[in-house]
Amino acid sequence: MIFKSQLPPVDISDLDLVSFCLSEAKREFARSTNKNTFALREDTSGISFTIFDIEKYSKQFASGLIHNLGFKDNDVLALFTPNTVYFPIVVFGTLMSSGICTLANPTYTPRELAHQLRDSGSKAIATQSYLLPTVKKALELAGLNFSDSQIILLDNAPPAASAHPHINNFYSPAPFNIFKINCPNMSKDRVAILFYSSGTTGVSKGVMLTHKNLVTSITINSNFFFLDGYLDESVHPRCFLAVLPHYHVYGFVINLLMGICTATGNIIVPKYETTNFMYLVQKYRVTFCHVVPPIIVSILNFQNSADYDISSCKFFMTGAAPLGKDVLAKFSKTYPNIYVVQAYGMTETSPTVTNAFKTHPHDGSSGVLLSNMDSKVVDEDGNPLGFNQVGEICMRGPNVMKGYLNNPEATANSIDSEGFMHTGDIGYVGTNYNYYIVDRKKELIKYKGYQVPPAELESLLYLHEDVADSAVIGIYLEDQATEVPKAFIALSHKNSNLSPSQVDEKVAQILEWINSQVAPHKKLRGGIQVLDSIPKTASGKILRKDLRAMEKAQSDIK
Ligand code: AMP
Repeated sequence: MIFKSQLPPVDISDLDLVSFCLSEAKREFARSTNKNTFALREDTSGISFTIFDIEKYSKQFASGLIHNLGFKDNDVLALFTPNTVYFPIVVFGTLMSSGICTLANPTYTPRELAHQLRDSGSKAIATQSYLLPTVKKALELAGLNFSDSQIILLDNAPPAASAHPHINNFYSPAPFNIFKINCPNMSKDRVAILFYSSGTTGVSKGVMLTHKNLVTSITINSNFFFLDGYLDESVHPRCFLAVLPHYHVYGFVINLLMGICTATGNIIVPKYETTNFMYLVQKYRVTFCHVVPPIIVSILNFQNSADYDISSCKFFMTGAAPLGKDVLAKFSKTYPNIYVVQAYGMTETSPTVTNAFKTHPHDGSSGVLLSNMDSKVVDEDGNPLGFNQVGEICMRGPNVMKGYLNNPEATANSIDSEGFMHTGDIGYVGTNYNYYIVDRKKELIKYKGYQVPPAELESLLYLHEDVADSAVIGIYLEDQATEVPKAFIALSHKNSNLSPSQVDEKVAQILEWINSQVAPHKKLRGGIQVLDSIPKTASGKILRKDLRAMEKAQSDIK
C-alpha cells in the first residue's frame, strides 16, 4: 500500500531558494514579538549578522562573483570551511549569481576534496587560510589550474598581503543592479546545491538538490515545527545552536536555513565540544538544539552538568543516525524539561521526511511522514507491504532529489518509475502512522552521523601492496551511540609465510597508512582483521551479512 502523509498539505512557494529564505525571514522577523535581533552570531569573534546584513553581503558576494570572476549560469562554487557566519552569505551569493554551490567537509584530505572538485566541475572555491595547503594540493590532484582570484578566503580578518580575494572586499567594481541578481526567472527545477553522498552503494556522488527541493523541505519541516509547538515563542527569544556541520544537509537545511527562515537567532559553532555546548546554551538562552546521537550520549555522560543552567532549552532534535529508545528515555528522565524528538531523512530527500511529535512516547519511532509526501515499504522483490510489515522504506515528494550528478545509472537505481526514492533503510510503518527504522540494507556506515562509504575504504585498501582483498563493515558501539568502520582483509600472496607477530606488525602498518589517507570520521576505528579470504557470492559480491554475523559471534565470545 501507499502511505499518504496524515498531516495537512501545505502550499509550496514558487520562489527560488534565496528569495524564499529572505522573504520568509523578513516576514517572520516583522511578525515576531520576542526575538533576537541577530540571525547569525559567532561567539568567539563576536560577529553578528541580521537578516538585512545577510541579504546585503550576499548581493555583494554575487556581484563580486559575476564581475570579478565572470561567474555564469550554473557555474559551481565549492565551499570548504567549518561552520562560519559567512557560510549562508557564500551560498546565497552564489545562487544569486545563478551559480550552484557544492559543500565539502572541511576535514577532507586533498584526495577527497579533489574528487569533489573534479566531479562537481567547480570553478571557484571559498575557504579559510589554514585550509589553503589542502586546497592547493587538491587542485593539483584534480588537475585544476585555479588562479589566486578563484580561491576566496573567509577568515574573520583579511590575511595580510594575501593574493586571494577576501569575502569582505569581494565587491563589484561598479555599482550593480541588485535586482538582476535575484534571478527572477530562475526555474524551480534548477540545481541549487550539490551535496555529496554515497547513497545506497559505491563512492560519494553529487546529489542534485533543486531550489524547489529545498524550498519544499524548509516549508514542510517548519510547518511541522510550528504545528507541534517546537517554535513557540516562550520567555526566551527563539535561538538555535548551529553546531551540526553546515556542509551536511541536516546542519545546512534543517538547522541553519530553517533558523534563518523562522527568524530564529543562530549561534554558529565551528566544532562540537560538550563544555562549550553547555556554556553557549546557558549564555544565549538557547531554546532548541539540533543534535546527533553521540551528542546526546556525551551530554548524558557530562560530569559538570550541574554547573550550567540550560533551562531555556525546550527541544532537542536528533537525526542522521539511529538512537536507541533507552538512551532517549534516559535523556528525558535526566532532562525532564527538554522534549527530545527523533527525525529521519537522507541527503537525497533534502533531508528530513519524518519527524516525531513532542509527546510521542520514546518507542524507537522516528515520527510521522511530513506534509506533501507519500511512502511505501517494499519487500525484496519490490512488492508493497502494509502496516507493521518490515521492508525497505521508499519516499516520494517534491523534496526528493533531481538525481545524482552525471550518473543516470545510480539515479535510476535509486528512484523507481513511480518516483519513489529507495532509501536503503529497513523499517516499517506502525498503525499509528509512525515510522520505525530498524536496520540498513545499504552499504553505508555512519560514524557520529557522518557518512563512511565502505566502497571508498575498500578501493583504497586495494591500492596497498600488502592487501589482496578487503571488505569494510560498520560495528555499532552502544556506549558511544555510533558505528565505527572495521576492515576485513586478505593479505597478498607475498605475505603468506609471515609469523603471527609479523602479521600484527603488517596490520598495524596498513592501519596507519589507510588512516592517513582519509578524513578523521572515516578512520578504521574498528580496526583490521585478517581472513584467509573475503566471503563473496558466486558473482563476486561481498557477503557483508556473513561478516556481520562473524563479528557478532566474536563479540559474543568476548
Ligand atoms: P545522510 O544522507 O548522510 O543524511 O544519511 C542518511 C542515512 O542516515 C539514512 O538513510 C539512514 O540510514 C540514517 N539515518 C538518518 N536518520 C536516521 C534515524 N532517525 N534513524 C535511523 N537511521 C537514520
